[in-house]
Amino acid sequence: MRVLVCGGAGYIGSHMVRRLRAAGHVATVFDNLSTGHRAAVGDAQLVVGDLRRQADLEAVLAGDRFDAVMHFCARSLVGESVMQPYDYYDNNVVGTLNLLQAMRTAGVDRLVFSSTAAVFGLPQADRIDETHPIAPINPYGASKAMAERILADAAVAYGLRSVALRYFNAAGATPSGEIGESHDPETHLIPNVLRAALGQGAGLKVFGNDYPTHDGTCIRDYVHVDDLASAHLAALEYLQTQPGAHSFNLGNGNGFSVLEVIEAAVRVAGHSIPYTIEERRSGDPDVLVASSERARSVLGWHPRSADIEAIIASAWRWHRSPRY
Ligand code: UDP
Repeated sequence: MRVLVCGGAGYIGSHMVRRLRAAGHVATVFDNLSTGHRAAVGDAQLVVGDLRRQADLEAVLAGDRFDAVMHFCARSLVGESVMQPYDYYDNNVVGTLNLLQAMRTAGVDRLVFSSTAAVFGLPQADRIDETHPIAPINPYGASKAMAERILADAAVAYGLRSVALRYFNAAGATPSGEIGESHDPETHLIPNVLRAALGQGAGLKVFGNDYPTHDGTCIRDYVHVDDLASAHLAALEYLQTQPGAHSFNLGNGNGFSVLEVIEAAVRVAGHSIPYTIEERRSGDPDVLVASSERARSVLGWHPRSADIEAIIASAWRWHRSPRY
């Protein structure tokens, strides 16, 4: 298949591009390089453009006969979204709407969309499945929930086929060492822990130890970026036969607290990692753990790297010698 990968220069998108090509598909990357990296695209075709400019989208979609689009472009930081909601709705809602309109004009009717656990807001169950209420508590989650709603309406009105994949916490890096997670500034836990282990950065901060969890720190479900890529391939396959708008939660079903992640990183690095306890970060729910039974049974998705130490070890290889 010929697949347009919007956001293919970013962390998850670049892993997807490699996976698509390894599976024999042709991937074209569309990215504004605001947070992505040219080097992450490798030798796939890169078209630099912005979702907020309709002409950019129309041009890239007119340039080839794409069978499907994967849409990874987004602003994705909870705390930033609380401070800059207009940017989040502009990029994540308006940008997605622009893309859908351009796809319709070009006659492309299949989309795999990057969604997030943040659409659920405060968890009402130990493991969050697809029946959990959609009740985001920050603009990031709200922007993705709005985009999902647009996909559902587009299925009815225009016959768009879509799968929204709600990632819990993406982590790790592909074993080749060519690509990995690289944000500036870095806000995510595992890269920050590993940078602290390397003596880099301004010091590791643990945001809050007064949450109602066993050690007071927030619990998240970390899922390997290559496993997320596998789920996208399965979703692409699923859309071959399934009309409508579908959504799946992607996680390992195991929660780890911030302190447990630090302990696992200490085992991987082989030495202690200093940190300080700070105030809570705005917009963080206490626990987010997925039930991915639906992805397993319907998509046949089986994450390979469910072990937190293995996930951190793969990220550690990247952070010790990042290429960008
Ligand atoms: N966190 C932390 N220190 C950091 C980065 C994150 O204590 O330097 C915490 C954060 O408050 C949250 C968890 O780690 O409870 C995961 O945060 P991350 O930003 O990695 O992902 P999110 O869950 O926000 O998507």
